[in-house]
Amino acid sequence: MFELSKDHEDFRRVVRDFAVAQVAPNVDRWDREARFPVELVPQLGELGLFGLLAPEEYGGHGGDFTSLCVAIEELGRVDQSIGITLSAGVGLGINPILSFGTTEQKDRWLPDLVAGRALAAFGLTEPEAGSDAGSTRTRAELVDGEWVVDGAKAFITNSGTSITSVVSVTARTGTRPDGSAEISTLLVPAGTPGFTVDPPYRKLGWHASDTHGLHFSGARVPEADLLGTRGRGLAQFLAILDDGRIAISALALGLARACLEAAQEQATTRAAFGRPIGANQGIAFSLADVAVSVEAARLLTYKAAWLKDEERAGRRTAAEVKQAAAIAKVYSSEAAVTATRAATQVFGGAGFIEDSPVARFYRDAKILEIGEGTSEIQRLVIARGLGLPVL
Ligand SMILES: Cc1cc2nc3c(=O)[nH]c(=O)nc-3n(C[C@H](O)[C@H](O)[C@H](O)COP(=O)(O)OP(=O)(O)OC[C@H]3O[C@@H](n4cnc5c(N)ncnc54)[C@H](O)[C@@H]3O)c2cc1C
Repeated sequence: MFELSKDHEDFRRVVRDFAVAQVAPNVDRWDREARFPVELVPQLGELGLFGLLAPEEYGGHGGDFTSLCVAIEELGRVDQSIGITLSAGVGLGINPILSFGTTEQKDRWLPDLVAGRALAAFGLTEPEAGSDAGSTRTRAELVDGEWVVDGAKAFITNSGTSITSVVSVTARTGTRPDGSAEISTLLVPAGTPGFTVDPPYRKLGWHASDTHGLHFSGARVPEADLLGTRGRGLAQFLAILDDGRIAISALALGLARACLEAAQEQATTRAAFGRPIGANQGIAFSLADVAVSVEAARLLTYKAAWLKDEERAGRRTAAEVKQAAAIAKVYSSEAAVTATRAATQVFGGAGFIEDSPVARFYRDAKILEIGEGTSEIQRLVIARGLGLPVL
């Protein structure tokens, strides 16, 4: 599979046109003001982007994972904050409810999420438990037919917007016979008494993306707000993260492409010593290297997305997707960081000035190597997939 279908490419053009017309003119301002553009979310919904994976009964298109990656790549090419808003909105917000929710939970939450009238968030990371998500400290105790939640989550995307409707939260709900924690997932609606959202973080990048710490102090939700199977919370979230990693790979691909395109233009139009700077092998070869990594990131991302679609159709296994997702994510995110370094170098001093988009991409790239599993964790997953006895 070396090219996407005509339908995918037609869809790509629609998202690209939207990103260029509606996102590009505003990104510099949103970034400077560190403002989450909540008004854009319903527009993304109207375009059908939040409903790409959801069935028609919830307002979706029942589409494929590849289309979601195309949309994230094209939004990410213009702005990473908007790309992650969609990626997290679908992959971490809608996907857990779609995959593990009861009919009642789907009916309650999905129509607004799919339409872009609401956003959902995914609360796994805690101040004391990130990569080691099994060390979750947040607790939920069943008291008189209600879960009482106490604890804290850190760095949760889309969790504090004015339209955030619900956060799925992992919590210890007991202890297994072997002494390990029983971890389950609960749906905690925004506005639940005892559930508070911290002020937004001051971040290195992703300034227009919404990220908060969350606190739970005696927050009560009905017993029926358990998402999926009791005790399967961690396994469910790890499966969701495999898909999310493919989406992050697509986001990284969009960023690396944007850097390559901007640097190509600069290398042909900027002159020094009486010739375009791209006439120097030192510049030309560095862009040749970025072009190689963009192509490799593209192939890895869409191979993983294709495997995901094949798995959804029952023709491939979850283990194959897990391995391909980790490989795509670690490669594309590291390629993106390298691409920003090359592009800012090609821009010289201008690359260090915020007027140039490569400066924003430089700041935005680093999180790609951290979010949804760090590069080290991806290597751990890949090594385990190879059957190595790595700890
Ligand atoms: C802007 C932003 C948005 C985010 N959005 C979300 C979200 O929506 N939902 C959510 O749940 N989380 C979210 N996260 C959290 C993110 O997924 C975590 O930050 C990430 O998984 C790393 O966890 P940590 O920060 O606790 O780092 P740690 O786990 O403390 O890791 C610190 C360092 O140690 C390394 N390390 C840890 N264990 C090992 C090991 N066994 N072998 C080798 N190296 C190791 C790590 O790779 C890393 O380099 C977000 C983070 C940010 C910054």
